[in-house]
Amino acid sequence: MECRIGVISGDGIGPEIIAEAKKVLNKIGEKYGHTFCYQDILMGGCSIDAYKVPLTDEAVAAAKASDAVLMGSIGGNTQTSPWYRLPPELRPEAGLLKLRKSLNLFANLRPAYLYEELKEACPLRENIVEGGFDMMIMRELTGGLYFGARKTEEIDGVVTAVDTLTYNENEIRRIAKRGFDIALKRRKKVTSVDKANVLDSSRLWRKIVEETAADYPDVTYEHMLVDNCAMQLVKNPKQFDVILTENMFGDILSDEASMITGSIGMLPSASLNDTKFGLYEPSGGSAPDIAGKGIANPIATILSAAMLLRYSFDLDAEADAVDAAVRQVLKDGYRTVDIMPQSGADGVTQVGTSEMGDLICERIQ
Ligand code: NAD
Repeated sequence: MECRIGVISGDGIGPEIIAEAKKVLNKIGEKYGHTFCYQDILMGGCSIDAYKVPLTDEAVAAAKASDAVLMGSIGGNTQTSPWYRLPPELRPEAGLLKLRKSLNLFANLRPAYLYEELKEACPLRENIVEGGFDMMIMRELTGGLYFGARKTEEIDGVVTAVDTLTYNENEIRRIAKRGFDIALKRRKKVTSVDKANVLDSSRLWRKIVEETAADYPDVTYEHMLVDNCAMQLVKNPKQFDVILTENMFGDILSDEASMITGSIGMLPSASLNDTKFGLYEPSGGSAPDIAGKGIANPIATILSAAMLLRYSFDLDAEADAVDAAVRQVLKDGYRTVDIMPQSGADGVTQVGTSEMGDLICERIQ
């Protein structure tokens, strides 16, 4: 297969972690007979330096012409970098918002997976996480409260603020369909999260999810209220496979889920539209504090590349091979500094960014 991949290395540790993800993709290409053609795309601070804007129209066109985009991270130190003295619409993050909008990326996927070897970083009791957990949070990204009409006004001398939460049936149906499709690639269970005991938008959400579920007889589904879901995530996280939810609930629940996995350097993510296209990136930022030191953890970016193989190219065996190589490297005791155990390091070897990429490549089967 020939795959055209747009590559946004970005700022800070971005270029370092992207180099390792490309190494792994190339190794997959060699082993499984695929060709990955990369097109570099400038976004964020590096684009501001070159073109005075965080994302040019040419860069958007290059992303659109790709089958998928792999991204490192963008932005700098928000206190000291001159990029943050620019008006908001010219700052690095504005580039990412423009890209998401231009590509209509409405579905955000964030897995939360507990590695046996990193259990110590999980704040939950051992009896709760015994046997691990492996869930995928699918969050609607372009609707709901964050995009509804809002205003602050004085009514009868009292300052009053209003935000509106709007979803139409089409917006719900397209994300629900995506959620059930993802479940088919996993353990075939969807937990749809809403607040249907209070909100009209949630009652519509529930109705459309039920209609969508009828097209997926192999997937079991349940509804769960968001307050209960927040509790269940820390009480019994292994019950979840795919959590399907709207924008703000997903924002909060995905951070809660990532917190119980341990390190930010291990968490990939994907943003998808209604084609096979996706934008794949680690959940962390550009980590300016460690940029250029060769110590950043490249695993989240490598796992993002695995998601790209799985969701944009349907290369499930290849994605499984990357996931397995990451598990093996941890089992063999290799760690970047951010995931070094706090309590003694017997049988554990600390490695840098590039060495970690090499060790993962060696374990690709
Ligand atoms: P950050 O995620 O960059 O860093 C937080 C902490 O986590 C730091 O101590 C950092 O060293 C560590 N860390 C992050 N990724 C790591 C990795 N791969 N390996 C090892 N350690 C890692 O968050 P921040 O410091 O709040 O933000 C820095 C910049 O990144 C800001 O400009 C912010 O806007 C930007 N940012 C970008 C994205 C994105 O590109 N999507 C996301 C979040 C933040």
